[in-house]
Amino acid sequence: MILHLDMDYFFAQVEERENPRFKGEPLVVGSDPKGGEARGVVSTANYEARKFGISSGMAISKAYKLCPKAIYLPVNKNLYSRVSESIFRIMETVSDKCERVSFDEAYLDLSRVAKNYSQAEKIGRDLKEMILRKEKLTSSVGIGKNKMIAKIASEEDKPDGLTVVRPGETIGFISKKSVRDIPGIGPKTEKELEHILGKSDLKVKDLKRLSMDQLVNDFGKRGADIYKKARGKDDSRVKTKTETKSLGRETTFDKNTTDPEVIISTFKSLSKEVVDLAREEERNIKTIVTVCRFEGFDSYTKQISFKPKKPTRDLVYGEGVKLLLDLLTQKARPVRLLGVRVIFVKSKNR
Ligand SMILES: [Mg+2]
Repeated sequence: MILHLDMDYFFAQVEERENPRFKGEPLVVGSDPKGGEARGVVSTANYEARKFGISSGMAISKAYKLCPKAIYLPVNKNLYSRVSESIFRIMETVSDKCERVSFDEAYLDLSRVAKNYSQAEKIGRDLKEMILRKEKLTSSVGIGKNKMIAKIASEEDKPDGLTVVRPGETIGFISKKSVRDIPGIGPKTEKELEHILGKSDLKVKDLKRLSMDQLVNDFGKRGADIYKKARGKDDSRVKTKTETKSLGRETTFDKNTTDPEVIISTFKSLSKEVVDLAREEERNIKTIVTVCRFEGFDSYTKQISFKPKKPTRDLVYGEGVKLLLDLLTQKARPVRLLGVRVIFVKSKNR
């Protein structure tokens, strides 16, 4: 279960946030057009600028011709990278299986975090909400059974979208898409495919007329990839840069609750799951973190650190539940989300 998050017109949206008077005006972030004479390209255009036909990657001189009145701003990398870091940190509170693809795009592997697609959807919605509250920016989320489906789904309802493609819906979802929506099929490949199939405006379902042999013949290894992707398959993993630093489980209640029995028993089963996962790492832990989000989205964490120990149920539940009881008595409010996380010691061979 994979989630793909893509910030909406990121650079330009950050600039709008910094300068609310830009809102509603066509805004282009990129190189200085210098009255239309300059080289260089558009990095990001907001939706008002897109109405003039301006798009990312376009020559800035062309953009200037299309809309000389637009606001043109230089790329403020430092600012965007600060915002970007904050967004990825929010994402990593959901799952540490997080792959950053660019400034404004990342994948999360939800397989260990969500039990089903309804839970995944809730996570997606909460994630968007947290980013909106913290950074005042909208994002689009796609959830699907692999990276490709999640990515295409995040494009589906932009801006501020949330699209979940359940496994059974995958084929129907992808069949109607243009072949260009498949990552790895660019304009050149599209042309070649159009030529082979004798048809323009190719949809993904049209690709199914091509056999594996034929695709491999024409495109080599990439052909095999196209064959699989046309059938909704993609087995690439979410690649995290570093070893697992921590590992956690959390769950959102269907209804906010104050029932201590429900809260404690949920916490117990979360602890058990975390211990089972933590054991696979074959490393000692040094910290246990309990997370509680209350009604109104305020999140609180409490943690305890100790000399490195084996992750056992007694340890994780025993210490974790004490932290939880502290939080609950301090806040005394209905609980929306509950989580527990363990932090590992660094392994010696890294
Ligand atoms: Mg984006």
